[in-house]
Amino acid sequence: MVYGRYKGIRNAAWQTLIDFHVTQLPVHVMRIAKTAGIRVLKNEQAQMLSDNQCGLSILTDVQWFVIYDETMSVTRKRFTIAHELGHIFLGHALKEGFHARQFEGAHPEDEQEANMYAIRLLAPACVLWGLNLHTPEEIANACAISLSSAQWRAKRMEELYRRNRFLTAPLERKVYQQFESFITEHKREGDSGK
Ligand SMILES: [Zn+2]
Repeated sequence: MVYGRYKGIRNAAWQTLIDFHVTQLPVHVMRIAKTAGIRVLKNEQAQMLSDNQCGLSILTDVQWFVIYDETMSVTRKRFTIAHELGHIFLGHALKEGFHARQFEGAHPEDEQEANMYAIRLLAPACVLWGLNLHTPEEIANACAISLSSAQWRAKRMEELYRRNRFLTAPLERKVYQQFESFITEHKREGDSGK
């Protein structure tokens, strides 16, 4: 399944949540990969990552594999797998047969897009809004993402809260509906805590 760039990264992340029937946080990235027929392997088994890589995706004939560094924190593992799903679902061109995510170094456009996809998949704005989550700590806890990813998301969320830009797109409304009972059960009461 390739969502492509034509719809934009935001739409691709929403479409993934819809297609894989995700109804609660934290988003279960392993389940999405499995349902999509992507095999996720620890580097311990695959032995394919070089020292500066934390994950990569590779296509052999018709089988996609995602390989990740199992020694990372849970939150980094989740983000890395979501990032690799981004490469696959956005239809990024393979470089010499595989996408590799490195700890450091240049981040070409594809790397940025995969990161943008990953954060939108793991921390969908309309769900955070529904839950009334604002601070990086709240977002990190609810989404099982690192505090640094959550800080980035919280900044974006404040902008969206200020502009009240939620549920304007049909796809986003669909995502919200899917999460509605989870939101009702887990909604944070009161003010933003600021
Ligand atoms: Zn990458």
